[in-house]
Amino acid sequence: MTAELHGNEPSGDEPQRSGTQPTHRPRVVVVGSGFGGLFTTQALEKADVDVTMIARTTHHLFQPLLYQVATGILSVGDIAPANRLVLRKQKNATVLLGDVTNIDVTARTVTSNVLGRETVTPYDWLVVAAGSGQSYFGNDQFAEFAPGMKTIDDALELRGRILGAFELAELTTDPDERRRLLTFVVVGAGPTGVELAGQIAELAHRTLRGAFRHIDPREAHVIVLDGADAVLPVYGGKLSRTARSDLEKLGIEVQLGALVVDVDSTGLVVKDKDGTERRIEARTKVWSAGVQASPLGRVIADQTDAEVDRAGRLLVNPDLTVPGHPEVFVVGDMMSLDKLPGLAQVAMQGGRYAAKQIVAGTRGESPAARPPFKYFDKGSMATISRFNAVAQVGKLEITGFIGWIAWLFIHLMYLVGFRNRLSTLISWTVTFLGRSRAQMASTEQQVFARLAIDRAARDSQNLDAESHAQDGRPRAAG
Ligand SMILES: Cc1cc2nc3c(=O)[nH]c(=O)nc-3n(C[C@H](O)[C@H](O)[C@H](O)COP(=O)(O)OP(=O)(O)OC[C@H]3O[C@@H](n4cnc5c(N)ncnc54)[C@H](O)[C@@H]3O)c2cc1C
Repeated sequence: MTAELHGNEPSGDEPQRSGTQPTHRPRVVVVGSGFGGLFTTQALEKADVDVTMIARTTHHLFQPLLYQVATGILSVGDIAPANRLVLRKQKNATVLLGDVTNIDVTARTVTSNVLGRETVTPYDWLVVAAGSGQSYFGNDQFAEFAPGMKTIDDALELRGRILGAFELAELTTDPDERRRLLTFVVVGAGPTGVELAGQIAELAHRTLRGAFRHIDPREAHVIVLDGADAVLPVYGGKLSRTARSDLEKLGIEVQLGALVVDVDSTGLVVKDKDGTERRIEARTKVWSAGVQASPLGRVIADQTDAEVDRAGRLLVNPDLTVPGHPEVFVVGDMMSLDKLPGLAQVAMQGGRYAAKQIVAGTRGESPAARPPFKYFDKGSMATISRFNAVAQVGKLEITGFIGWIAWLFIHLMYLVGFRNRLSTLISWTVTFLGRSRAQMASTEQQVFARLAIDRAARDSQNLDAESHAQDGRPRAAG
């Protein structure tokens, strides 16, 4: 394996250590460029430290608006600015592309990999904010037919699948197949599921109305189902009930207490509370039912006294550090503390808190003097459709148009970059006041690339295993 960094010549087969130039400044490594990682890095702008932000994507992703990319409202660029450009003016920050494969808390190094190039980055302080991925609760085979929505690739694949279903429905003459193509099932009635279902319904009823000659897109049947007994169960009470009735007014069918037990290319099987199993015929299924924290939590736990919970989140100290390692902070979705929810605000505030403690540490303050991390709950919200959202701010419950305006301003405020805010505002004006959507293109590659890549990786692993079994040699590392 070769190693190369910043134009340095590869030094042979040994991985290269980045940051090897003599430096007297403390080195902070930040893993991840999501809300936790980016906000940590930015909070260190004026600190007398060198920050290296390592992420497996070149962009910061505003996940709360992914569903709008999936349904043709926003472009990828609107919600995913390039890390390098966001941090261009922050002179103490270096951005490295890389999939972090190992963290050695004894040697204090982070190993990352991109296209076979391995980089080892030493640190004095480490902030790990690698987030979480989709969880299928042990049924990873569902992913083939029911993609989740965590990345840009996911959103573009979903856009292709949703729009492609309408296209295929226009072509078929078989009424059963047409019904199957026009049935969209969203698994999970949390904020993501509700928002996505609402936008599929609006796409069918407003944007695509009159655009086909053989089908009426308004015949689309959108189903949201969940094993829990309520829509938006984290809100509970009035907000959950309002959200459910608002979804139903949009023509969306809500099925609660329904557990998915199987998924295939033409539908899914659900088990109701009374134990009966039934099948729903649907070509397009979307999974938004669970999350699993980054496996890097387990990598750290295996070397320390830390534990991970069932969702793979690392149990951290009140100062967000790993037990026995006051120099290692874990923030955002991959940490567990006081049952804090997996929300952008938790990650942002955690990142800023970690940055503050690092600055204090570089000035010689003892970790024992750190105040515990305190999360300030600014509330949470979900849109049901245009002009309609539910929001909870402390004890205040807001619904309808006022909730939607609050949702709109808060999302605009937290989008990174002025250009992105402006282009998003323009897209929203076009979509919500008119009925058009600017991002209605999709390609075959978007729909099939994930499965093709997965298959290619599996085939190459099988070939590898076969050839080693034949020559009897152990597999080479890397
Ligand atoms: C569809 C969707 C909708 C959401 N809606 C809302 C909402 O409305 N309101 C809200 O508050 N929250 C919402 N959330 C949750 C919110 O987005 C997360 O809580 C937040 O992103 C967590 O921030 P994080 O920094 O911990 O992780 P992330 O933002 O997920 O960032 C993780 C980063 O780590 C990188 N990474 C991961 N593994 C590695 C690795 N091995 N090596 C290198 N880099 C790695 C990723 O590329 C990414 O840059 C939503 C989430 C999703 C998926």
